[in-house]
Amino acid sequence: MIEFTAGVYQLKVPLPFAMDALNAWLVDSGEGWVLIDCGMHTAAGWAALQREVSATGVSWSDVRTLFITHMHPDHVGLAPQVKQLSGAAVAMHRREAELLKEFAKPETAEHWNGVALGLAGSPAELVGPVNSAFHLLTVSFPDLTPDLLLEGAEQFGCLEAILTPGHSPGHLCFFDHRRKILFSGDHILETASPNIGWLPDEDPLAGYLNSLEEISLLEIDFVLPGHGDPLSGYREWIQQTMAHHGERLSRIHQIVTLQPSTAHQITNWLWERPLDPIHYRFAIFEVLAHLVHLQSQGLVKRNGSVWM
Ligand SMILES: [Zn+2]
Repeated sequence: MIEFTAGVYQLKVPLPFAMDALNAWLVDSGEGWVLIDCGMHTAAGWAALQREVSATGVSWSDVRTLFITHMHPDHVGLAPQVKQLSGAAVAMHRREAELLKEFAKPETAEHWNGVALGLAGSPAELVGPVNSAFHLLTVSFPDLTPDLLLEGAEQFGCLEAILTPGHSPGHLCFFDHRRKILFSGDHILETASPNIGWLPDEDPLAGYLNSLEEISLLEIDFVLPGHGDPLSGYREWIQQTMAHHGERLSRIHQIVTLQPSTAHQITNWLWERPLDPIHYRFAIFEVLAHLVHLQSQGLVKRNGSVWM
């Protein structure tokens, strides 16, 4: 447990992945304590979260609301346990609640991996290894009905929910007006450019770039992310991240203009080194998100799994 500033505690919850911990943030909102994200449901995670909360001296019964930035298991997994122990209301964006209901069915994530890899023109023998690599995640979506469905722009004490789609379509950041702190979930992460989700019939990259621009208009002293350390120079981070996506868009546009290609082929050209199933799946979703964005700008077309 780290007291970041008066009334803001960083709680570390271990994760069984390379990204080895989630930050849950315990915040005095001026109208009661709230918890932002809670970690993945593992025995070690639940024990750590309870230890971290008790080290703050805040009692569970004082936690009024559990805000969820998005429905990925490393952020929402322990929500049923937290709700049962504290009586806190669970709040998340309406879209995330809908997706969570869908993904809590064990076959959903594997179904969408198959659809995405099919659209990407990936060799069929890659679907099995990708699904096995994600098994731990795909079985960890909790069956949860939130108490409060948010749209973004709601106020809770000094906190305002801000809709920041891209990593997930109903991703929320929470802006603390009083302390000039943004709780950024996976929208802004210091060391990694957050993975852009792919969903059928959506342009998540457009949502991501627009919501980064919106965030850069806020006066923020510190960004407190879902993983890793707090960041201060967030406007520079936003500029670099937008430039990174801009370069990737023009590179992909150039590739398919020279030679009509599948997302699988583009991924092989962009990454050059062999990717393990986890990184391959992230890369494919990332390339599809960029292709769909180019398509919605009228710059590329798709015929089956081939883009031109
Ligand atoms: Zn995360």
